[in-house]
Parts: sequence; C-alpha cells; structure tokens
Amino acid sequence: MEITFFGTSAGLPTKERNTQAIALNLEPYSNNIWLFDVGEGTQHQILHHSIKLGKVDHIFITHMHGDHIFGLPGLLTSRSFQGGEGKPLTVIGPKGIKAYVETTLSLSESKLNYPITYIEIENQLSYQNNGFNVEARMLNHGIPSFGYRIEAPYTSGKIDVSALKEIGLEPGPKYQDVKNNETFEYNGIIYNSNDFKGDAVKGPVIAIFGDTMPCENEEIIADHANVMVHESTYIEGDKSLANNYHHSHIEDVFSLIENAHVDYSLITHMSNRYTIEEVEMISQSLKSLPTTPPFKFVKDFDSWSF
Ligand SMILES: [Zn+2]
Ligand SMILES: [Zn+2]
Repeated sequence: MEITFFGTSAGLPTKERNTQAIALNLEPYSNNIWLFDVGEGTQHQILHHSIKLGKVDHIFITHMHGDHIFGLPGLLTSRSFQGGEGKPLTVIGPKGIKAYVETTLSLSESKLNYPITYIEIENQLSYQNNGFNVEARMLNHGIPSFGYRIEAPYTSGKIDVSALKEIGLEPGPKYQDVKNNETFEYNGIIYNSNDFKGDAVKGPVIAIFGDTMPCENEEIIADHANVMVHESTYIEGDKSLANNYHHSHIEDVFSLIENAHVDYSLITHMSNRYTIEEVEMISQSLKSLPTTPPFKFVKDFDSWSF
C-alpha cells in the first residue's frame, strides 16, 4: 500500500505547501484509491501525479474546516471528465458534508455523471468495504473532527505444495480452490483447505487523524498502527499554545506514538509560518535526541510505501 501527500500545510497554503489531502492506494488489496480530505487546489496537485480520479471510489473527510474541504466540489466535478463517468463514489464525513457538496453543486449548476453515496458520522463509525475495516472516532478540535483507523484485509496463508503433493494433488487450477475456499474436493474426498495453507496474514493498520488536540480516542484509533498520519501544527516552542487552539504540538504526537505503540508516523499539517528549510532544521534537531520515536515531517508529493 502507499500513502501520498498532496498538501501538508495548516490553515492556508504556502508557495511550497498546499492545504490538506492524502491519497491511500489500496494495492495489492484493491485497485481503488481512497482520499482523505480535499483542501483547495487538490485537483491541481493530483495533475502532477499518476493518480487518476476515476480510481478514487471513497473520499473521507476528517472535519469541515476549509483547509480540508475547499477543494472538494471542484475535484468532484473534474472526476466526471477524468475517468469517473458511471463509477460510484462514497463520501464519508461529519454531519453537513452532504449539504455542503449538494449546495455548491446545485448553486453552480454543476452536474455529475456518477452517483454519490453520503455517509455522515454523528459520533463514531464502523464501516466495511472490500475486506477493509474502517473505524472513525471523534477527536477534540472545537468542531467535530474524526480520526480514521483503517485495517487492511487478511490475506490467505501460503499454499503448502508438498502437503498437497502428498495427497496426490499436483500444482494446477485446483490450487485456486485450496486458496480461496474453506474446503476442496479431490478424488471424492473433502479436505479442509486450512490444513494445506500457512496462517492467514494480517494486513497493515493505518491511522489517519483529523486536526485535534490530545484526547482519549486518539489511542484507540492509533493502537499498534503500522503507519500513522497525524497533524502537528506546532513543531517547536510552547506546547500550551497548540492546545489552546485545539491543535497538537509535536510533543503531543510523540507521546501518542509511544502510548499507542505506533510503528512509524508521518507528520503533516505543520503551520504555514514554517518554511520547508525550517521544518527540515527542526526535524534534524528532534532526530538527534535519543528519545525521539521514528517519524517524518512530510512534504507535498511525499509517498510512503508499506
Ligand atoms: Zn486544518
Ligand atoms: Zn481544523
């Protein structure tokens, strides 16, 4: 799987960093792409990348602040002309996301050539799609803001060729039955497929957070995640300032990484007052400390494969 960042700035875009948008490429589990937040200019950013809007079949919105949704109506209309024709889309987000999109499209007399299903989250969400399990929980950001925990499907264990040969079954199309079904039949005998396969392999867990100050639900969303995406609007200085504005300071993110046992963290949504050089300098000084957990401050177009 792969995560790509199309915007990494907080509040306003800068010349170097756009507002928020994240693409999650679901390969090898599925050919689809899920977007998380669509800040203004996201469709322009995507034009510089190989991602096709027609492959986007879900858009998750963390919260209704402009730096996370002002690019959504434009991206939806462009999707009609960029491979999305006739391909259904699901938009998941806080209460109000449906009215926001429908009002904008209707007032601008924009027509889409594909259907949209809206799922508005009141407090929390449990959602299944294509073997993926998605859980959303409320964070603490002054307005409803959600964190998403995405669990990729299990993949079936490796086929034990020598065990199958022992019962006389040589490699061939029948192996698909062993791979995909609970039981299979050979020479009039019904076998349990699991006796001829290794253990199923758990897919990665990804945690993607909306804006928030520290809160209890964060640990539930991030628990033992393989990859976490989190905001750090403030990456130096006084921690209380960040929390006064319902945002996170880098120290808050490091505590969460430790308490939730996260493997690796991609940190985004750094304040628009930081230049890329400043972010890089602060990153180096943080990484020189022995207690700093594995993390990366991301830039626009950074990708992370796992
Ligand atoms: Zn924001
Ligand atoms: Zn916000």
